[in-house]
Amino acid sequence: MKSHPNSPAPIYNSFAELFERGFTIDWVTTSFIGFTHLICLLGTPLAYYFAPPGFWQVMLSWTLGHMFFGCLSTTLYSHRLISHGAARVVRWPVHLLFGFIGQPMAAQGSVRRWAALHVIHHSVDRTGRHELDPYSATWFSSSWRNFLWSHVLTYLLFHPDTSEKDKAYEAKNSAPLVWQDKLYVPLLVGLNFILPLGLGIWLSGTLVGGLCLMTASICAFVLGQHNTWTVNSVTHMWGFIRGASSSAKNNYLWLGPLGEGNHHADHHDFARDYRNGFGLSGWLLDPTRYVILLLNGLGLVKGLHRASKKQEAEIIARRKLLQVRGRLQGALWEAWETRLETLKSDWLEATHQWEAFKAQRLQLRAMHLPQLELEKKLNALKAEVAIARRTMRARKQAFLDALYELRVTHQYA
Ligand SMILES: [Zn+2]
Ligand SMILES: [Zn+2]
Repeated sequence: MKSHPNSPAPIYNSFAELFERGFTIDWVTTSFIGFTHLICLLGTPLAYYFAPPGFWQVMLSWTLGHMFFGCLSTTLYSHRLISHGAARVVRWPVHLLFGFIGQPMAAQGSVRRWAALHVIHHSVDRTGRHELDPYSATWFSSSWRNFLWSHVLTYLLFHPDTSEKDKAYEAKNSAPLVWQDKLYVPLLVGLNFILPLGLGIWLSGTLVGGLCLMTASICAFVLGQHNTWTVNSVTHMWGFIRGASSSAKNNYLWLGPLGEGNHHADHHDFARDYRNGFGLSGWLLDPTRYVILLLNGLGLVKGLHRASKKQEAEIIARRKLLQVRGRLQGALWEAWETRLETLKSDWLEATHQWEAFKAQRLQLRAMHLPQLELEKKLNALKAEVAIARRTMRARKQAFLDALYELRVTHQYA
């Protein structure tokens, strides 16, 4: 079986080769991640054992609440709103709540740094330069190295400086991001260590209670970190449907509390979308989008970006054509290419037409016409929308039928 046309060749065979290319160990981050993981693994059972009577419920609630809020701030704020600009306007209360409180509680670096690295991660989809991807799952020749690197090892090393990295960091220069970057370390220490320590002492009346709640906090952000890291590792390595422009996959598994990784292929193929995935499963497995819609309803974010139905159809068609190209020899592919491309264009054109009629319907409703006139116009348009929808479905089916015929003719799975 031929490989996917978008699969880049590995760059490294071993981790040792990284040091020959200018990578060095970041001792501060390595010590922080190592120490907090140790506390989470060894300190948590001790904390629950020595906690003041009944205090375990406070600790458990704090861990779950902290983890949920940290994860939401990463997915909603650092990822969709800041890295991808999923909303045209983001108001200050959103910056304060998710940027200055929630995001330091996630302990994944400042928003500015996080977003810069993430922008580079996505820019590889356009440029094909996967050597620049900071948490690539395609650098190594073996799967276990790709997993370890993209999941955690990437954070333990200083990467060689590149102009792309500097540019991405400089581009994220709005006032909230610059200030959050400057205040990141005090916020990180204050919210994850001092606040739970003080609160625990106040609630339990003992230093032990304070230390227990601080351990609960550490456990929360360690779990949250792994939630984010699985998106970089697991969803770029395993899944059911591969995207058209990256190694990301849709795997439809509930990864962490907010589902950021469920439709990672969809996300990479249309990254600016405030939603994480297309279709019904995208809706069901994406709680972060509900919160964004709530913020939109409250006027705290404005101008949400989303892929049109035509853009979604185009992405799905591209994926299917890439899949076929990966399996057929050159001459065989050329024999089918024109027919498939024509069927695809017909489908996309019909989808565009259907969307245009639906947009007309919305415009009519916004025109405040007299009721009778509005109803007449809407009724006339209703038939057009129905025909356009039927045409769109028929053309999609014709495209899928051709792919099926090709599969049966050339007998590949
Ligand atoms: Zn990704
Ligand atoms: Zn992204």
